Amino acid sequence: MAIPSLTEGRGRVDFRFGECLNNSAVTKKIIAGNWKMNLTPAESVQLSDNIQFGLAHIPNSVEVIVCPSMISLSAVNTRLTGSSIKLGAQNMHPAKSGAFTGECSSEMLKAVGCTYIIIGHSERRHVLGEKDDLINQKMITALDSDLNAILCVGETEIERDQNLTFNVVERQTRLGLLGVSEEKTKSLIIAYEPVWAIGTGKTATTSQAQEVHCFIRELLRKMFPSFYGKIPIIYGGSVTPVNVESLLAESDINGVLVGGASLKADSFLSIVKAAC
Ligand code: PEP
Repeated sequence: MAIPSLTEGRGRVDFRFGECLNNSAVTKKIIAGNWKMNLTPAESVQLSDNIQFGLAHIPNSVEVIVCPSMISLSAVNTRLTGSSIKLGAQNMHPAKSGAFTGECSSEMLKAVGCTYIIIGHSERRHVLGEKDDLINQKMITALDSDLNAILCVGETEIERDQNLTFNVVERQTRLGLLGVSEEKTKSLIIAYEPVWAIGTGKTATTSQAQEVHCFIRELLRKMFPSFYGKIPIIYGGSVTPVNVESLLAESDINGVLVGGASLKADSFLSIVKAAC
């Protein structure tokens, strides 16, 4: 069944599709690979080596980030020394330290070379039960720790069918960023990741993605009137070398967060090259 478009939908931000085109002042394209719970440290090093060797030169206009599992961060970091590829983690605990068995703090992630962190990924929201308030605490800590924080937001298929996409995206964005000052948005990235498109092979069409990106930009304008245009909004959900070009051609799509296709050097390299 075709996933409906939202031109009739409205969140609490009074928004009509097309109103906020060309509001992005973001100059870089961000290409981030989320390796999820895949690859051993040795396999992760191999993949990062293959990506690095395949990218002789990354232009300043493109930021490439790889996000291996926690266990592989240190090994991959060693290999990325001197490279312009950045390292990101997939999760962290909001506390600086303490009795939180199995968790990892922002300081620990920084100590192994992370400069990026993914927060509020839909698998953590929907599979592991993370709620907006925990995600907000993580965002506050990450931004206070000078990590670049990628806040993931996105609706489920049922929510889209019920025309709730804008409401869900607005709630997740507002609550995820509660208490975040405008100043801190310099290190903020929003990833719009419709849950129905993650790992399913069903990509949002470029206009479906652009429509929600426009809505997010308009929402950011209300929340952060001075800096909203500079906050990158990237798209995630079954991005491949085939669909990436058309997604990146949209004015408010400032990059992509890639799961499955980031696990093979060839496909990830093709995606990066489409942004160069
Ligand atoms: C993701 O994990 O953030 C993601 C978008 O996965 P995929 O590209 O496999 O849909």
